[in-house]
Amino acid sequence: MTATYLGIDIGGTKTLAVLVTPDGDVVGRTQAPTPARKGPAAVLDTAAGLVDRLLPAGAGPIGVGAAGTVDPADGTVRYATDHLPGWAGTRIGAELGARLGRPVRVDNDVRVAALGESWRGAGRDRRHLLLVAVGTGLGAGIVADGRIVPGARGAAGAVAHLPTPGAERLRCSCGRYGHLEALASGTGLAAAYALATGERISGREVARRAEQGDVAAETVVERAGRALGRALAGLVALVDPQVVVLAGGAAGALLPATRLAYATALLPAWSDVPLLPAALGDDAVAVGAARLAMEV
Ligand SMILES: [Zn+2]
Repeated sequence: MTATYLGIDIGGTKTLAVLVTPDGDVVGRTQAPTPARKGPAAVLDTAAGLVDRLLPAGAGPIGVGAAGTVDPADGTVRYATDHLPGWAGTRIGAELGARLGRPVRVDNDVRVAALGESWRGAGRDRRHLLLVAVGTGLGAGIVADGRIVPGARGAAGAVAHLPTPGAERLRCSCGRYGHLEALASGTGLAAAYALATGERISGREVARRAEQGDVAAETVVERAGRALGRALAGLVALVDPQVVVLAGGAAGALLPATRLAYATALLPAWSDVPLLPAALGDDAVAVGAARLAMEV
């Protein structure tokens, strides 16, 4: 039997484990709801259970992509939102490694998704990639020469807090005003729509209404897309990737306006850097995590 690698995606609602070949073909998959409310030990028990179910006799390294800011040096969660109560401070690498008796590599889920997309997804075989994920919030991962760029504290890629014209009246999740996430995220779409109309609906619903021709929703989505596209063009000059990948639940709604603004703002030196939608869907984090395991 050829070697296989195991990758786990620990998200706020679902934990997914995949088994992949050295070429990145997914040959096994299993998932379970993340028992977020029961605390970190239960979450890690669930992840370990999936590994046992997928490859009971395995001994090789395992990769994990997890929600929160993760220090890739020791696999400890430095910061997390309340989607996973008690998650900050969890030593994922050490505690999951102890449960399984195998080495475990851990990094933030968006950054691991960037690795997955660069390996087998939209940026396939491109070793320099910038991935931006627009979901409830806004995150990014930078892959340079085939590896995640970690940063000094494991927090490189925090595009959420880029100062952004047009966001001055909008509050970011960090508590400050004027940041990109306050515009270009599910939360940002919802807040901007409420400001314009007085009606409180989800970012997903704003995107749906924009598609149906609701003028206020269209305006909000277009403004968010434009802000994101301009920011991406600037980030390309900073990071110098071969491709930019847009992922996340709100990516589809923002993509047309983002593409237009991106193409307009991109400097000639990088005019050949495409902006592409993510290709791995729900598998991106788990596949990237398996790639991470191969680096052990
Ligand atoms: Zn912020």
